[in-house]
Amino acid sequence: MKNFTKILVANRGEIAIRVCRAATELGIRTVAIYAEEDKLSLHRYKADEAYRVGAGKGPVEAYLDIDSIIDVALRAECDAIHPGYGFLSENEGFARACQQAGITFIGPKPEHLRMFGDKVSAREVAVAAGVPVIPGTDGPVDLAGARAFAAEAGYPVIIKAVAGGGGRGMRVVRSEAELVEAFSRASSEAQAAFGEGGVYVEKYLEAPRHIEVQILGDQHGNLVHLFERDCSIQRRHQKLVEIAPSRLDASLRQRICETAVRLMRHARYENAGTVEFLLAPDGQFYFIEVNPRIQVEHTVTELVTGIDLVQAQIRVAEGYPLSAPEIGIHRQEDIQTRGYAIQCRVTTEDPRNGFLPDTGRITTYRSAVGFGIRLDSGNGYAGARVLPYYDSLLVKITAFALTFEAAAAKMHRSLQEFRIRGVKTNIPFLANVVRHPKFLAGECDVTFIDHHPELFR
Ligand code: ADP
Repeated sequence: MKNFTKILVANRGEIAIRVCRAATELGIRTVAIYAEEDKLSLHRYKADEAYRVGAGKGPVEAYLDIDSIIDVALRAECDAIHPGYGFLSENEGFARACQQAGITFIGPKPEHLRMFGDKVSAREVAVAAGVPVIPGTDGPVDLAGARAFAAEAGYPVIIKAVAGGGGRGMRVVRSEAELVEAFSRASSEAQAAFGEGGVYVEKYLEAPRHIEVQILGDQHGNLVHLFERDCSIQRRHQKLVEIAPSRLDASLRQRICETAVRLMRHARYENAGTVEFLLAPDGQFYFIEVNPRIQVEHTVTELVTGIDLVQAQIRVAEGYPLSAPEIGIHRQEDIQTRGYAIQCRVTTEDPRNGFLPDTGRITTYRSAVGFGIRLDSGNGYAGARVLPYYDSLLVKITAFALTFEAAAAKMHRSLQEFRIRGVKTNIPFLANVVRHPKFLAGECDVTFIDHHPELFR
């Protein structure tokens, strides 16, 4: 066991602040990095020290500048780097570069990043672990291969980027007539977003739910789940509202969680990670991918289990077993959920204009907290500039209460109480979601937003 004295946070925005807070509470000093364009962003002021990286490289590229980031970490004498989500968090080369520099990468091993970094190899691992996957091609295919699979499996199918993430490089194809165009669009989108145009094809499930299981493993072979989240409220395959626990019956819930544990034990996974499944209306569930990092929606799991996932990540990376008093998980049964948590992603996007990202200066920012409301924000203050270069997430609102209805009511109250002026946000849209009868009844699948135009009013 080594105790870290200083951690560099290789990220920006809300997750950088979240990690700094976790480290500070553990008595660990923090180092922020920032791009020149981001020099006024709040995350740099929430760390004990801050350094500019990637000089002359551009606002996003700076956070991807491995050499520059490792150089800062060494000069500032950091023991470890937390990558957050996005940017370098799933980059095997970065994890290895940290290792070579003698710095701990707070996350799984490089081989796990490789194993799960590509959706085709992740599927292979799932198959080897006896976990059900959606019928699909064995690997990347060309147009002829896609056509042959679709002819055999039947339409609709979904074309997915092998290197995919964030809902990009995905195309649903409902008939052979649509195939040629969808294939070329998915490939070029994949090439543009991931620098790799490889795609594969899966059977498209109609109206599934997205259920994912939070996993935590230590370096000593112990691995548990922290139950599941329902992330079915999505727009263009991107999550918008997340719930923990899901409102599934107990035995199905248990089977999904146990399946996730089986997969991650098979992979000898370490640190925090998420196994994602699609649950079909007939009750069958299928593996879709593993996210080998902390996720945006980890907050809901923290509220219902009481476990600080970012601190657990740090402790595990220091070498503590899950059973150490610092983490306190001796057996799976030590983890229970209590109540319900709902998270809404407030973004600077205009729902009435195709969710077009808005930018500019925030003139008014009055947040809405109170009992049962947690806020995680990046630049949530009056006077902040919303920059065009980055993700449009402004603040995550997480509501917790003992019943689902009460959590939804708290969320609605908070959304109504928020005042943000100067940039457009999706707050009115989110308020419509959390008071919708289908949402309250726990009946939403991934097509909910598409099928309910009244949410946009
Ligand atoms: P990404 O890595 O880009 O987030 P995922 O594979 O996790 O992509 O899928 C994101 C979402 O896309 C899922 O939650 C689901 O809504 C939809 N999706 C993915 N695969 C399928 C499929 N085979 N059938 C139906 N919907 C799918």
